[in-house]
Amino acid sequence: MKLTSVNPATGQKLHEYPSHPIAEVNSKIDQSHQAWLEWKNTSFEERAVLLNKMADLLLSRKEEFGLLMATEMGKPFREGVAEIEKCATCCTYYARHAKEHLRDQLIQTEASKSYVSFQPIGVVLAIMPWNFPFWQVFRFLAPALAAGNCGVLKHASNVPGCAVAIEEVVKQSGFPDHVFQTLLVGSAMVEKIMEHPFIQAVTLTGSTAAGKQVARKAGSLVKKSVLELGGSDAYIVLEDADLERAAETCVSSRLINNGQSCIAAKRFIVVEPVIEKFTNLFVDKMKAKKMGDPLDPATDIGPQARADLRDELHSQVQDSIAKGAKCKLGGEIPPGNHAFYPPTVLTNVTPGMPAYDEELFGPVAAIISAKDENDAIRIANDSMFGLGAAVFTSDPGKGEEIAATRLQAGSCFVNERVQSDSRLPFGGIRQSGYGRELGDFGIREFVNIKTVFIR
Ligand code: NAP
Repeated sequence: MKLTSVNPATGQKLHEYPSHPIAEVNSKIDQSHQAWLEWKNTSFEERAVLLNKMADLLLSRKEEFGLLMATEMGKPFREGVAEIEKCATCCTYYARHAKEHLRDQLIQTEASKSYVSFQPIGVVLAIMPWNFPFWQVFRFLAPALAAGNCGVLKHASNVPGCAVAIEEVVKQSGFPDHVFQTLLVGSAMVEKIMEHPFIQAVTLTGSTAAGKQVARKAGSLVKKSVLELGGSDAYIVLEDADLERAAETCVSSRLINNGQSCIAAKRFIVVEPVIEKFTNLFVDKMKAKKMGDPLDPATDIGPQARADLRDELHSQVQDSIAKGAKCKLGGEIPPGNHAFYPPTVLTNVTPGMPAYDEELFGPVAAIISAKDENDAIRIANDSMFGLGAAVFTSDPGKGEEIAATRLQAGSCFVNERVQSDSRLPFGGIRQSGYGRELGDFGIREFVNIKTVFIR
């Protein structure tokens, strides 16, 4: 078995990586466990030195890794460089804050002393997607290693080059051997890996379908799981919104990473009095984006990561149009051997269409009409997903009330696009998953929350 990198801008095969047979995988996990027996005894200060070194190393190689992502999965080069910078901030964040997030918590009882202590649990399996091939991994690995755990990575099969590069960065930063390792395997191997007695827990970022399978297996093994799954984030535009700014923010959120982000805005729910004006602004801004070579600095949108994913997206668009949606922009596959899909805008989107019910993982916007504010909130919550949501209004008090108490999602933003940030917890509800990454909640997912009681 081999894992193959293909350039989605050209269809050209870049490199083949022999996959690891199960015996080698098992021995790598054994080695990780051995490494953990030492690593768990290191101090927060020692771990912080290595995390800071890793941040420096990432920054010194950011152009190289930006190029790697551009060629392996089509991310525009400048977005790739920014992704590496974000990984570095995650490393420095946990270098600085892991100790305080995991500090013992004294609790008064009848004991002479009783407290909660956060202890590392061992080797955690991370199953990761291709869309942010570095960031998704670093937002797991920085807190995991900072907490004293070890990690093994099963990355998406189309980004083996990124997977190998991440292992190399960890090693070069001076982390002890086997504290973090890449397993070059396909998804068929995941259940076997989860059965290994030294795998203590699993985290998956990816589709809801994959999450369900991994959660089922984790449940049968009584191993903890964290799931960061798909989303169909609703952005509500109210009558009093600054439409120009709202349209700008909505377009930038829809198109981030060629439209392939779990927290990209996907459904735009606009109240009737401003829907025509908003739609015109939105379409003009989508039209102005330049699709092309991800290595060209002028490019806003590169290709989709794989041609089969692009084809799946196109069939969702066609199905929505067949059911009554209007295509205002795009919607056609350009000729050639590549995975490009143009910025596309669908209006008149209603329930029963893929553009309303499903996740559209590409540069396709679904504009949905709402009668008024209450109707807009009802539509936003009318989804099986619950990852992020945003509301645009010139009344900050109303915006906060809607975000804090009425929208059902893991992250709700006002007049801003939903973004992950190392300082804030990130995750979803409903079919978008469970558990949290980042911030203090993230680092406490994979620890033994231990009660200590001294009579
Ligand atoms: P995917 O097909 O689910 O793949 C994600 C990872 O899971 C890959 O490593 C994949 O391996 C593995 N995998 C797939 N099926 C599996 C199974 N049955 N058992 C075990 N592992 C399995 O998702 P994707 O297409 O790469 O990523 C897009 C999806 O991820 C979107 O739905 C997006 O919204 C979601 N996502 C969510 C977040 C979040 O934070 N909530 C962030 C990014 C992306 P192979 O590549 O070998 O198949």
